[in-house]
Amino acid sequence: MTATDRDARLDALVDRLPDGMVVTDPDIIEGYRRDRAADPDAGVPLAVVRPTTTEHVRIALRWANEHTIAVVPRGAGTGLSGGASAVEGGIVLTTERMRALAVDPVTRTATVGPGLLNAEVKAAVAEHGLWYPPDPSSFEICSIGGNAATNAGGLCCVKYGMTTDYVLGLEVVLADGTAIRLGGPRLKDSAGLSLTKLFVGSEGTLGVITEVTVRLIPPQPPRSTIVATFESVDAATEAVLAIVREMRPAMLEFMDRTSIRAVESVLNMGLDTTAGALLIAQSDSPGDDRARETTRMTELFTAGGASEVFATDDPADGESFTAARRFAIPAMEKIGPLLLEDVGVPLPALPTLIDGIEQIAERHAVTCAVIAHAGDGNTHPLIVHDPTDPEQTARAQRAFGDIMDLAISLGGTITGEHGVGRLKKAWLPDQVGEDVMELSRRIKSALDPSGILNPGAVL
Ligand SMILES: Cc1cc2nc3c(=O)[nH]c(=O)nc-3n(C[C@H](O)[C@H](O)[C@H](O)COP(=O)(O)OP(=O)(O)OC[C@H]3O[C@@H](n4cnc5c(N)ncnc54)[C@H](O)[C@@H]3O)c2cc1C
Repeated sequence: MTATDRDARLDALVDRLPDGMVVTDPDIIEGYRRDRAADPDAGVPLAVVRPTTTEHVRIALRWANEHTIAVVPRGAGTGLSGGASAVEGGIVLTTERMRALAVDPVTRTATVGPGLLNAEVKAAVAEHGLWYPPDPSSFEICSIGGNAATNAGGLCCVKYGMTTDYVLGLEVVLADGTAIRLGGPRLKDSAGLSLTKLFVGSEGTLGVITEVTVRLIPPQPPRSTIVATFESVDAATEAVLAIVREMRPAMLEFMDRTSIRAVESVLNMGLDTTAGALLIAQSDSPGDDRARETTRMTELFTAGGASEVFATDDPADGESFTAARRFAIPAMEKIGPLLLEDVGVPLPALPTLIDGIEQIAERHAVTCAVIAHAGDGNTHPLIVHDPTDPEQTARAQRAFGDIMDLAISLGGTITGEHGVGRLKKAWLPDQVGEDVMELSRRIKSALDPSGILNPGAVL
């Protein structure tokens, strides 16, 4: 395509949308080329399109379909798997300006524009005495559209479930510009195929989510927090199994020594940097059950060999430990760029997975911290590497691959919550099998026959 052809095509889109909605300034475009995975292979898009209504999204997709131009949907760009990497010569369609919000306290639902941040939704529904539970660590910077598109998880999933458990309805614009409504503010609905769920976690490959209706629940009861340090990772992971065997904590998080040290070096909050691992657990059970669970978790940690156990009912103290855990990724990013894993296994295999990750890091001589939503069996090995050093990067990439192979061999998954994106795509067939890949490709081509939606991601 010549530059003139390209300009003529883009002019056709500029003409159909309000002034300023199609951005071609290279400096601005640069800021939309990558998500937090910092994919080195991200392309340079023709333009960034910033719609404010569903109709604008329809216009952009009709135009892209007419000219067979790739469209990469984008929320807040906090993704960790390269799902929002720009495609050369395509457009990035960001939903960040679609920020409508309506809360219905009677049905206990909120209907939300995809561009609202998770934290904004939580705050808005709290004004109605309601709670939207899904809580990725990035909740202050990621969008609800991105959460739905990746089926985001978080810290309270162990008790309260993932984004998909709260999505009751979606409005989606398909590749040909058709807008469809799926589900809605109905707490029960068995009509037809479960198409709403098909789009949750579809990572921008099947349609652009332009509205999300989410289920809300009464506010979370007060929480107690128990923090335990262990000399060895094995003792900590065995303590995780001891707890989930008996109860459903409201949070059960793991940090290894490398991540504890990275967080402590920035936050200076007095974490024990000699510990091999740290667990943070919470109980929010009603009435006396909270105290009972707190006591029992303390007993189980102690019996499991914890060197120190600290329990508190003070919400501010509890939040400071939770914030420390949330800060682990930014703290490790200060050491160097990360290859970020998201592997998960059935819970009994958690100790084997974390042991195996340590061995892989040693074998490839890479620095790798491990944090985990341990109560879900979902771990985030964070491999530090220097992208300007090809030999080190190659070692980091081999470790990255070996960790996914290990998770698959343990009956696990290559991604518990971040999505496949571009970085984990090569391992998807090994996890799901060729028959499932073929079925997925048939669904993709039925909805997006020209393959314009997020090409190169997932499939
Ligand atoms: C410090 C840090 C901590 C994190 N912790 C967690 C965590 O605990 N749990 C977790 O699950 N994730 C976590 N993440 C990852 C990330 O925040 C989530 O994946 C989040 O859901 C991405 O939302 P986003 O708005 O930034 O989406 P983006 O990064 O912009 O996009 C993510 C994917 O969704 C697609 N997409 C975005 N919006 C739409 C739309 N409207 N329609 C269709 N497709 C769309 C994109 O094409 C892309 O494939 C973390 C990230 C960081 C930086």
